[in-house]
Amino acid sequence: MFKVNETKIDDKNFYLNGQTYENNRMKVCVGDQTIGGNTLTMIAGPCAIESEEQINSIAVSVKKAGAKFLRGGAYKPRTSPYSFQGLQKDGLIMIKKAADSVGLKVVSEVTSEKQLDFAAKYCDMFQIGAKNMQNFELLKAVGRYKIPVLLKRSFGAKIDEWLAAAEYIIAQGNRNIVLCERGIRTFETSTRNTLDISAIPVIREKSPLPIIIDPSHASGKSKYVHPLSLAAIAAGADGLIIEVHNNPKAALCDSEQQITPDDYSCLFNDVKKIANVVGRNI
Ligand code: PEP
Ligand code: MN
Repeated sequence: MFKVNETKIDDKNFYLNGQTYENNRMKVCVGDQTIGGNTLTMIAGPCAIESEEQINSIAVSVKKAGAKFLRGGAYKPRTSPYSFQGLQKDGLIMIKKAADSVGLKVVSEVTSEKQLDFAAKYCDMFQIGAKNMQNFELLKAVGRYKIPVLLKRSFGAKIDEWLAAAEYIIAQGNRNIVLCERGIRTFETSTRNTLDISAIPVIREKSPLPIIIDPSHASGKSKYVHPLSLAAIAAGADGLIIEVHNNPKAALCDSEQQITPDDYSCLFNDVKKIANVVGRNI
């Protein structure tokens, strides 16, 4: 596991391989943005990039609400091979253009080593999805790039397995990792997955890496995204990644869990209130 004791300066502050850790927490820099530390990271955007109009309109809305990162899948790992697979290279070109035009950073999923050279030109952060959390060759490959990685927890992984997956990336020299809890599979069927809120304090104890929460995939239902977001921030998460669509009902994937730009704006304002209570900025 992460050897946080190696070069401790004192109980809470240490220096490890060129990185300073304050309060046992690590900060991940993505261009001029910092994930971890006192400021919460708000990432929002559609499940998948569907068209130029769609991604442009969502980029404008989430920027206006206060988000700093635009998400959107170009390579979609779908359960069925007959479902929409994403716009792939064209999608990455679209999301980068949309993000640049309003000043957002791009987070997008990569599913194969073959995509990395191209994707590296359009993404500020690579996402490794839940289904690929233990795709060790892909983990090693993103580890060889210096681009920050958003590493989602598999719906079937224990926390230690998730941290071991992060270690695969770190072992290649890329320590810029942000963990993302997105729900695990339990016997409960009222929600798509079960949000493991305990993962937040457990990770904060076991690892210096920032942890953000994805309430969209955790719940699978748009109406639960708001309360789970507030709970995550109250429990100490470093940020949220939320699926926002300009017309959720017509979305080509995950239509039940995507929220509208208006709902996102309202959620953002409520997150600010909780952030204030727990001493975080947004
Ligand atoms: C996604 O973020 O669009 C996604 C597919 O999520 P997950 O890998 O958590 O299922
Ligand atoms: Mn999705």
